Amino acid sequence: MTLPNYTCACGLSHEVVASRWRCDCGGLLELPEHELVWKPGGEGSMWRYAADIAGGALDWAALSLGEGRTPLVEERPGLFLKLEYVAPTGSFKDRGAVVLVALARLAGADRLVADSSGNAGTAVAAYAARAGIEAEIFVPAGTSEKKLTQVRGHGAQVTVVPGTREDTAAAAIERVEEGGAFYASHVYNPFFHEGTKTYAYELVEQLGRAPGTVVLPAGNGTLVLGAHRGFAELRAAGVIDRMPRVVAVQAERCAPLAGRTGFLPTVAEGIAIADPARREGILRAVDEVVTVTEAEIGAARAELARRGLWVEPTGAVAYAAAARARHYEGPVAAPLCGSGLKH
Ligand SMILES: *Cc1c(COP(=O)(O)O)cnc(C)c1O
Ligand SMILES: [Zn+2]
Repeated sequence: MTLPNYTCACGLSHEVVASRWRCDCGGLLELPEHELVWKPGGEGSMWRYAADIAGGALDWAALSLGEGRTPLVEERPGLFLKLEYVAPTGSFKDRGAVVLVALARLAGADRLVADSSGNAGTAVAAYAARAGIEAEIFVPAGTSEKKLTQVRGHGAQVTVVPGTREDTAAAAIERVEEGGAFYASHVYNPFFHEGTKTYAYELVEQLGRAPGTVVLPAGNGTLVLGAHRGFAELRAAGVIDRMPRVVAVQAERCAPLAGRTGFLPTVAEGIAIADPARREGILRAVDEVVTVTEAEIGAARAELARRGLWVEPTGAVAYAAAARARHYEGPVAAPLCGSGLKH
């Protein structure tokens, strides 16, 4: 039960302290490979895997809202939808946010900073409230009023930054560099993936086997990277005998991972990331990147709604790609990432 140190591709490693968010070389922080314990407990939440999350070192019980352990619905033979929008704050970001906030508390932080265009910010704000940690959430101008109301409702301070998503991140980093705050970044802090990797654990447990293909939305890649890490751990421990095919989905109007340049606004605001910081890691983790059009996203969302599943537009992206691809090896699993009630 020891918290792993951060590592960096340059060879340095760093203890977790509140002020650390990147390597001295400027590189991205990573975590070493984790050797799976795989003794799922009786919890009805992602904490059934507590021994495999952040080295089993987090004190999570008082923070948890029962995140994870979301329903898996077989929508048609061989196509499974995982209802990630059935999460305490309405998106899968709860899996990572609870881990980051528990980490902030372990590091003794009484203040944290995060930046997000929506769901990550609301999730971090909710768990910070439970932890009694003051939160300042930086958002780009134009973020939906519903999400801002949710963030403020949790007691966090909202700072609206004019300009691009990158300008928002820069403003948050500037605040962090002033000192005294933990940077609860779903992009830079690799412990976020310790939470999102439970998506893979759950799929394997719920299906009773490895999926043949997982179709995942990708913006900053927190679900892609987490799921890949989870499957790799399960594979290394022999719980599954091969890796599923990982298909990342982007909106055609903003698809840097598909090699596109030039970005237009998209209804899939949750994945509209023009320059993902972990681009190389994401491309190593995926087997294929596909894109979906605005019309496909809209049609997928409407089709889901007619089947009783109410998601925000970004929440329909993975389904849009999975539903049209009949050649993927099954079982195929796609998450519905964010609730329609947020939109
Ligand atoms: C955050 C989010 C995504 C994409 O996650 P990334 O980590 O940016 O790849 C997809 N859908 C919804 C609803 C989200 O909130
Ligand atoms: Zn480094």
